[in-house]
Amino acid sequence: MSLLIRGGEIVTPDARYKAEIYVEDQTVARIGTDLSVPPGTEIIDATGKWIFPGFIDPHVHIYLPFMATFAKDTHETASVAALIGGTTTFIEMCCPSRTEDTLAGYNLWKEKAQGRSACDYAFHMTVSRFDQNTEAQLREIVRDGTTSFKIFLSYKNFFGVDDGEMYQTLTLAKELGVIVAAHCENAELVGRLQQALLAEGKTGPEWHEPSRPESVEAEGTARFATFLENTGAVGYVVHLSCVPALKAAVDAKGRGVRLSVESVLPHLLLDKTSAERAGLEGMQYVMSPPLRDKRNQPALWSALASRLIDTVATDHCPFDNEQKLLGRDAFTQIPNGIPGIEERVSLIYTYGVNRGRMDIHRFVDALSTRPAKLFGLFPRKGTIAVGSDADLVIFDPTYRGVISARTQHINNDYSGFEGFAVEGRPAVVTVRGKIQVRDGNFVGERGRGQLLRREPIINWRSN
Ligand SMILES: [Zn+2]
Repeated sequence: MSLLIRGGEIVTPDARYKAEIYVEDQTVARIGTDLSVPPGTEIIDATGKWIFPGFIDPHVHIYLPFMATFAKDTHETASVAALIGGTTTFIEMCCPSRTEDTLAGYNLWKEKAQGRSACDYAFHMTVSRFDQNTEAQLREIVRDGTTSFKIFLSYKNFFGVDDGEMYQTLTLAKELGVIVAAHCENAELVGRLQQALLAEGKTGPEWHEPSRPESVEAEGTARFATFLENTGAVGYVVHLSCVPALKAAVDAKGRGVRLSVESVLPHLLLDKTSAERAGLEGMQYVMSPPLRDKRNQPALWSALASRLIDTVATDHCPFDNEQKLLGRDAFTQIPNGIPGIEERVSLIYTYGVNRGRMDIHRFVDALSTRPAKLFGLFPRKGTIAVGSDADLVIFDPTYRGVISARTQHINNDYSGFEGFAVEGRPAVVTVRGKIQVRDGNFVGERGRGQLLRREPIINWRSN
């Protein structure tokens, strides 16, 4: 299978130029002008379009038993939605709970994805407890090519680890060269505040944010950074949502802590007034950390532009309306999560690049190159270069559309971004040289996706 893409403009974090791309045997074979190609080569006209490296979503949930139910997507539905939106690789949180065996959980997640994903994928391995078996199991998982861990400082007694377990996880990660992603909120405070609010009869979704205020996230972020500083491990703060947590992260970066920061689509574009709507509508917008006061957004966008925030992920986590209603009597029972795997690229292009909040190079960096570098996928993924996988997004900046649950491809009955206009979308998306998407339709091969084996981080790059 060979492809020639001509007429488009290639964009990477440090370059922008018109050139032809010739793809052979799943990788980019040549980049140049007036390329001569063998007969039978399929030719794609990309005139007037951008050519981006396939986008990488470094934080999604697909198979997820959580809060007495299961997230709605399968690897079939989520991967097709991801590809239609321009994401050619996702990194899923493998999340066994505290009562489950770590290695058994890893094997279960692998089995769920095996042969079912249309795009490539990898896992972050959640360490939800650290007992006498954990260390040997984590070594085995790293040998299997899963070279990033995830810890939760929140969700006490379910996914959450205590400070001792965090220390053990980071110490092992340092030895193995594994990056550790962390959900940073103070579990004790969240639990106490939730109980206090419920005791006052404050049960609606509008009380979710006050139960996990900004200071609680700032504390978690600062504590994680302190533990990184004292173990020498490399860390990654997931879904940073607010200015006080950003200050804690930036302060840590400034004193040399090896820390990177992710923000997610909902925190950049939605705010807590959505979760303050009455009943089900509010429940749809419950995630953790919660949607915040809108005043945080300019700081998040500007940190993203200046690279103090490294990446934009989604924390895609779809629960449908019926599941959200599990929390009708208490906000603490609302399954947490907002979907977004399908919309990230077009929304950040529209509200980031087109609104002048970030340039097109930083856009490619934050949504593709930087995640590839942080998580051991670069230069196989995250760039357009000879020898790299031919994961390409030919992006039509003239497309105009509106996001709606009626037309989405994920398996859910609402969209957190209902009614948002988008300016641009992928016209053609390839995964290792195979055309998987044309103009919003999946036209490719289901089950094409491969589990990406990764090497431990060899060099830490602070920017
Ligand atoms: Zn998450």
